[in-house]
Amino acid sequence: MLNKHKKFLLAFVLIMTAISLVACSKNTNQSIKKADDKLNVVVTNSILADMTKNIAKDKINLHSIVPVGKDPHEYEPLPDDVQKTSRADLIFYNGINLETGGNAWFTKLVKNANKKENVDYFPVSKGVDVIYLEGKSTDGKEDPHAWLNLENGIIYAQNIEKELSKKDPDQKDFYQNNLNKYINKLTKLDKEAKAKFASIPENKKMIVTSEGCFKYFSKAYDIPSAYIWEINTEEEGSPEQIKNLVRKLRATELASLFVESSVDSRPMKTVSKDTKIPIYSTIFTDSVAKSGENGDSYYRMMEWNINKIYDGLSK
Ligand SMILES: [Zn+2]
Repeated sequence: MLNKHKKFLLAFVLIMTAISLVACSKNTNQSIKKADDKLNVVVTNSILADMTKNIAKDKINLHSIVPVGKDPHEYEPLPDDVQKTSRADLIFYNGINLETGGNAWFTKLVKNANKKENVDYFPVSKGVDVIYLEGKSTDGKEDPHAWLNLENGIIYAQNIEKELSKKDPDQKDFYQNNLNKYINKLTKLDKEAKAKFASIPENKKMIVTSEGCFKYFSKAYDIPSAYIWEINTEEEGSPEQIKNLVRKLRATELASLFVESSVDSRPMKTVSKDTKIPIYSTIFTDSVAKSGENGDSYYRMMEWNINKIYDGLSK
């Protein structure tokens, strides 16, 4: 009788243990599923990644394709990029001839991943006042560097929020709230920049970089710019290009040259040697800086550029 009772107890304990194990594993499954419910977002470069992070924070899984410090104009996506793009719920790219110019790596990537424009992938530059490469005015000849004007950066952020909220309406308030805070921050910096650059004497006002990526910045902050080559998808730093810039600079009283973090600095070093104008600083144009260094976000790279350009030109 007692034995039977013991057996019954043992069976009862075993059954309860089994039930609790099942319940436990079910719970674990649920939490994994919840993590997987986050939107999978892919962006083409570190600047767009940072803007997206400012709006979505930890509510999405984010993958950025072109590594920090590398050229986003021409790139070869890795197998991991291809896989994550195929699985993405939402893809942001700059557009206006950045990732679709040169070797058109983005065009090929989304085609292979079977993604549709304005359904799966969106150009964050939609709505900016486009500036074209010199002497050109057709599609495919746009200057892509619109983000170097903070007002355009705000348009980018608005486009990112709009698409995030459409795909993930449960988080709409969260995204909009973060967007508003971000816009306030960028607007303040934009106003500071405009006030600063207005005080530089006209004969010292010119931003010289390797790639001619400052057209939007020049227009926004009223400072002319000059370059060795116009866009990274063309020949970079030929003797003829260097000679042309050197000739142009000899007619100025310029105090400083600049070089971008994401290009080969050797052509600009030759310009500096030939004109005796020093390179004042590295600046960030097509990529943010490495995490933990100066310029490691869109806001901080713009702030760094504004301060360095102002200090360099006012010397
Ligand atoms: Zn560029």
